[in-house]
Amino acid sequence: MKEFLQAITDILAVLFGDAPERPRTPKPLPPALPPPGPIPPKADPNEPQDAGEANNSEDPVVISHEAEPPRDTNGPEFDPVPAPPPPDTVVRPGSPLGPGRPNPPAPEYRARYMWCIDNGHGSLTAGKRSPELPDGRQLFEYEFNRDISARIFTELDRIGVAYFNVLPEVHVGNYLTQRVERANKLSTSLPKLFVSIHGNAGPAPTFQDFTDDNVRGIETWYYHGSTTGRNMAAVFQRHLIERTGMVNRHLRSKVTGQFYVLRATRMPAILTENGFYNNRFELPTMLTDEFRQTIAEAHVAAIMEIEENGL
Ligand SMILES: [Zn+2]
Repeated sequence: MKEFLQAITDILAVLFGDAPERPRTPKPLPPALPPPGPIPPKADPNEPQDAGEANNSEDPVVISHEAEPPRDTNGPEFDPVPAPPPPDTVVRPGSPLGPGRPNPPAPEYRARYMWCIDNGHGSLTAGKRSPELPDGRQLFEYEFNRDISARIFTELDRIGVAYFNVLPEVHVGNYLTQRVERANKLSTSLPKLFVSIHGNAGPAPTFQDFTDDNVRGIETWYYHGSTTGRNMAAVFQRHLIERTGMVNRHLRSKVTGQFYVLRATRMPAILTENGFYNNRFELPTMLTDEFRQTIAEAHVAAIMEIEENGL
């Protein structure tokens, strides 16, 4: 009887667009045409997804966002003239390849790019939480990432910028390959750019321990070797540091073992790490509305600078 009622509820939800808040079981992908570019490399389930998991591995390449931009601004992965989309890759509501359509630009706004905004993790992602403060408060990274994304979407809606919410579902795990696939499969006439939003975690014995007090600040990652990605990261890092005044951990990339969202997305991609939630001083700040709004506004300022000037 319970299953029967749930089935009726699900059918009504599909008919009337009110999707149930249950974890979606990823369905097998339908046969697709050959992808337009190289096939994304496979994700290793144990590979680091963000800087919080990569701090103990090899030293990253670190450069200042104020460094002289490289002369050649067209990275090999970046095609400023978008190819016409294959007919079978349009993202449909409810499709396992994407839960919705991108938000189109407002008619009066001349959009330059399609911004694929990725909020990182779902509520079922293991770990990814701060130690508890003495008053019991705790930060969950998925909630932090989503709150900032939601604030960015509100502002982009107001301006009319085109964007795609890569992971609107909340109760999912890592969803790592699906996030990349959704962005890669998204059909749009605009060139796509990918921004993954995260909170950072420094080395600590367990997630209940704080990291070293000196491990703090903001950093932006890009795909090593991508000039366009590096230029894009520099714009975001500059706005983030100017608006927050936090410690500048600069632009980072890894020569090997690059994050999957950076190496498998077939578009310029960056990953912002907006403070350390296991730093005892930054955690209380990261829990505030004011800080999250500032981080969101810094992202929007970077987006608008790139919308205006291009990459
Ligand atoms: Zn993360």
